[in-house]
Amino acid sequence: MQFKAFEPNIEVNGPTVYSIVTGLGYFTNLSRRFYSEVGIGTVVNKELVIDMNGWYSQAAWLAAFEKIANTVGDRVLFNIGLSVPANAKFPPWVVDVDSAIKAIDIAYHMNHRKKGVLLFDPNNGVMTEGIGHYGYERIHSENKIICKCHNPYPCAFDHGIITAMAHKFAPSAVIKHDSSKECRSRGAETCTYIITW
Ligand SMILES: [Zn+2]
Repeated sequence: MQFKAFEPNIEVNGPTVYSIVTGLGYFTNLSRRFYSEVGIGTVVNKELVIDMNGWYSQAAWLAAFEKIANTVGDRVLFNIGLSVPANAKFPPWVVDVDSAIKAIDIAYHMNHRKKGVLLFDPNNGVMTEGIGHYGYERIHSENKIICKCHNPYPCAFDHGIITAMAHKFAPSAVIKHDSSKECRSRGAETCTYIITW
């Protein structure tokens, strides 16, 4: 289900929270209003200030994100998703479409923590559950990946993230939302995207 945290005690880092602010572009004042309502960031001289070294309640952030989403609609959510990888750093092993799509789930876990512990530890490769996943299933007979998303973020936003990651290495890749499957925007638990290039 979109915007409902899977577990309590999950936090999201400042840069992720901030990525929505920048991704909103023209609509950036909405983030100031809705973030303030849930106590994320501080407003200084009418500007929203997010602590880039800080951590914020995922549940509160999702509540604000839901209000933003309901105001701007799917097209803007898609564009916000597109902008997220543009502002992120990726490990050196991200070199092609496959590694780029695999990296989404790892980056996702590194940007969240539970009870103060990162959900992905890059030192030992251990991933901890609590926020769901971005899937990776390779169809080897063709250049095709099935990416099934089971996480609390909105459908159009994830579509944007996956599109940006695939386009990093295959600018002509086509990323389709599989409309024959269930969709979180209709209250389901997952969405499925098909990447071909
Ligand atoms: Zn969907």
